[in-house]
Amino acid sequence: MSDFVHVSRGGAIIGKYPLQDMPVLLGVGTVLLTDYFWQEGMARWELVSSRFQAPTVPPSVAKPPASLAGTDRFYCLRCKSYFPKTVEQRKGSFMTEVFYWMVSPIAGGLYAIGNEMSKTQHCPRCNSRQIREEIW
Ligand SMILES: [Zn+2]
Repeated sequence: MSDFVHVSRGGAIIGKYPLQDMPVLLGVGTVLLTDYFWQEGMARWELVSSRFQAPTVPPSVAKPPASLAGTDRFYCLRCKSYFPKTVEQRKGSFMTEVFYWMVSPIAGGLYAIGNEMSKTQHCPRCNSRQIREEIW
């Protein structure tokens, strides 16, 4: 048996998730009880609700520190931690950007803009991109 669960909605596969993450994914709405799931070894797809349940108390209900009230927070679905900030990572490298700036200001500007737009947020602890953002 694989530890991964394939999930489909409306006839299309929406993702493959670690089995142990299913309650959390249900809790945050990434996976719905009306979706279908399939795991290696299963003869056919079955309703998520036939096997999994959303947690009655979602993990994200844990109280954040009072000092962080009113700020953005990020909840990592993978390591199940809260952070006031995430690590932002760019796809391109700084050296490449410098190179483009040297070639021409237009090339440098375009590269910098593209880089800024492709920036993604990562968990500072486990570097996962499965970050959920909300306001405390
Ligand atoms: Zn994490």
